[in-house]
Amino acid sequence: MITEIKGLHHVTSMAGNAQKNNDFFTKTLGLRRVKKTVNFDAPDVYHLYYGDELGTPGSVMTYFPFPNIGRARHGTGEVGDTEFAVAPGALAFWEQRLVQEGVKGLSRETSFGESRLRFAGPDGDGFALVEAARDERAPWAGSDVPEDMGIKGFSGARFRVKNAAASVELLRFMGYEVTERDGDITRLVLPGGNGADRIDLHQMPSAPMAQQGAGSVHHIAFAVEDRAAQLAVRKQLMDTGYQVTPVIDRDYFWAIYFRTPGGILFEVATNEPGFDRDEDTAHLGEALKLPKQHAHLRDRIEAILPPLSN
Ligand code: ZN
Repeated sequence: MITEIKGLHHVTSMAGNAQKNNDFFTKTLGLRRVKKTVNFDAPDVYHLYYGDELGTPGSVMTYFPFPNIGRARHGTGEVGDTEFAVAPGALAFWEQRLVQEGVKGLSRETSFGESRLRFAGPDGDGFALVEAARDERAPWAGSDVPEDMGIKGFSGARFRVKNAAASVELLRFMGYEVTERDGDITRLVLPGGNGADRIDLHQMPSAPMAQQGAGSVHHIAFAVEDRAAQLAVRKQLMDTGYQVTPVIDRDYFWAIYFRTPGGILFEVATNEPGFDRDEDTAHLGEALKLPKQHAHLRDRIEAILPPLSN
């Protein structure tokens, strides 16, 4: 069994409008934009990262805003809800704030005996806020969200799958343990994880398969401490029959990717080197950073990208 995984690292999704996306995460949700860069494979498209003060693994929501992309059709084989942790008692504050901000898809529901507040992002992205006891992570203090109400990072994610069995087997191999079942939902928790350490599998055998578009999660990344741990995970996955990519340098972490039986693309990303490797922590996310292979295209890229105000 794999013992190197610590919980989530980041979640990467697709958006339509970059400015709306930026404003939703930095203003409505009160996260910090920790990096403004471009897609490695499509350098005329932004890659925007939002998280806590430093973009600590387990707090980082990232987006590719494609201006002309169609909306997603949600279904199985995808991350349904990305879940953020807030302090016990904070949901009432958030419900009022999200209503005032005109956020769509708001609903309060109870799952595993806990209250959760579901809401939709600007492109219909599925999110939920959950109250997490004993979560010591500090929210970003630079927004207008009171610090005792702020988002601490991810608590985890809820996947929609046709059949949960193969995903249960994979997540158990990755170190997660099945803790509870509530109707069609199986909960797995990673003991000793980074706080973003819970995965719910919602089995929906008769739902249609998802089609990716704006508002879809593109992939979900799990955290390992360093490159040695990542190589150990890669070897164990490949020995078990998974097709895993070589290690790819993503500037702020190293990444490997593999497709899971439930249809979701998983990544395993290193906690090193982090988002402060090329920017002062006081100014994270302010300047447009380009991967070195695209640096010579800066003038052209800056002319193509829509301007983004903070
Ligand atoms: Zn990623």
